[in-house]
Amino acid sequence: MAVSIKEISDNVRLAREMTMLGNYESSEVYYEGCLQMISKLILVISDSLRKTKWQQVQKQVSSEYEHVKILKTMLQTLRLETSVEVPTGVRKRDEPNLADITNSDAFSQNDPDIWPPPTPVDHSNGPKSRIAVAKRSDAKKYPASRAGSSTAKKLEINRHSKSIKKEERPTSSRSERIGDNKPEKDHKDSENNEKNEPTDEKKFECHGMERELADTLERDIVQKNPNIHWDDIADLHEAKRLLEEAVVWPMWMPDFFKGIRRPWKGVLMVGPPGTGKTMLAKAVATECGTTFFNVSSSTLTSKYRGESEKMVRLLFEMARFYAPSTIFIDEIDSLCSRRGSESEHEASRRVKSELLVQMDGITANNEEPGKVVMVLAATNFPWDIDEALRRRLEKRIYIPLPTMEGREALLKINLREVKLDPDINLTTIAKRLDGFSGADITNVCRDASMMSMRRKICGLRPDQIKQLPKEELDLPVTMRDFEEALDKNNKSVSKEDLDKYERWMNEFGSS
Ligand code: ADP
Repeated sequence: MAVSIKEISDNVRLAREMTMLGNYESSEVYYEGCLQMISKLILVISDSLRKTKWQQVQKQVSSEYEHVKILKTMLQTLRLETSVEVPTGVRKRDEPNLADITNSDAFSQNDPDIWPPPTPVDHSNGPKSRIAVAKRSDAKKYPASRAGSSTAKKLEINRHSKSIKKEERPTSSRSERIGDNKPEKDHKDSENNEKNEPTDEKKFECHGMERELADTLERDIVQKNPNIHWDDIADLHEAKRLLEEAVVWPMWMPDFFKGIRRPWKGVLMVGPPGTGKTMLAKAVATECGTTFFNVSSSTLTSKYRGESEKMVRLLFEMARFYAPSTIFIDEIDSLCSRRGSESEHEASRRVKSELLVQMDGITANNEEPGKVVMVLAATNFPWDIDEALRRRLEKRIYIPLPTMEGREALLKINLREVKLDPDINLTTIAKRLDGFSGADITNVCRDASMMSMRRKICGLRPDQIKQLPKEELDLPVTMRDFEEALDKNNKSVSKEDLDKYERWMNEFGSS
């Protein structure tokens, strides 16, 4: 494949940007990528003058790369020393963490354009930011993968320096929140663990500003089992099969999904709104029983510049730590609009770049059995997605409007808690609902089931309404109720929208 000069210059620019931000892990990945591209390019250049010029570029870029590597090594050594000698729990607020300074803070002090991050809440006497999960029987040491090695090191250091930290128990352990069968027991166990070091809980710990961000992520993580099963989702057999193959099986049979059969880096669910994409993601989490990170784009697009990419990095570090994990990013289009598009802000470009780097990082990680991290994304606007991200979301599946069979199933699911008039004909209603999305059908059912109550209370005063017996309101839903509901509710997806999806899937789909 021909090497694009634009891609080389983009990579150099990003590598330098990442270096400026102190994000050396990412910067290394960009430098490596770009050096590889330059080598490939040199191989195919026949003109000797041009070749020499490119060799000079190569030399310059590789010397920059060497400097970055030296900086990173120095920083890691310093971090190690600082963390061991001065544990975060006892560090004073006016003694900044070296790692924090070398990341964005130093830049924000010098650059008036960069907003300072919010003043961190002083937790010196409170609980440390951490998520605790019951240790898996097969859990190994957290792998110091390329992209996550700094945190991995910090984790190690934290374990060693634990004995000098005074920590309170977090308000709730993660094992309770993920719907563990024995929360009581775990609660007691973890209390005992606090007393009897070493603990058998696996904890994700971090410091300084990262702690604040980890808290934010923790709030957005679906800790408890979303409890949506395949059977709760009407229709969409093909999508369920593909998701099983792409996400569930690699988690169950990591030894088989290796080499050429390696799991897809990411899966993108594309389709009109309200067709069940979020439900499918929740079902994947339930069926896999893995740590599930449900992140909306808004969580990742922090208004504090420089924070968003840290958030993305932390998200992936957490996912690797708790692997096997599934990261679900809803409305990924709002995070990753096309490069150079009008809506593209410099900060959002950096978030996108970080996401790309992290997604590349999980490929190596996924080679390790039991450590699979899968990215599952959803969008209603696939045409707005950046090409580079689209390439990384290797499996792109279409979640269509429900079929006739699906519409009948959706009617049954939605009406399972209400009484139905014996004359009601769900097949007739399903025919009338052609072109409606799952969410539209839910709305029609909700409306129809309230019709008789509306008729009953029409013209009554509030005190009369309150006195109405329940049986008089809870009447069976009739065909007439549906007729009225259908007159009021229109479909939300137009023919033009469907054509657009079809065109996009024909061009970029891979199901
Ligand atoms: P999307 O993420 O595609 O916008 P959601 O998964 O959030 O759609 O679905 C919205 C609502 O529509 C759900 O809460 C559910 O009530 C209903 N729904 C949509 N598709 C289905 C389906 N296939 N089976 C059951 N309910 C569905």
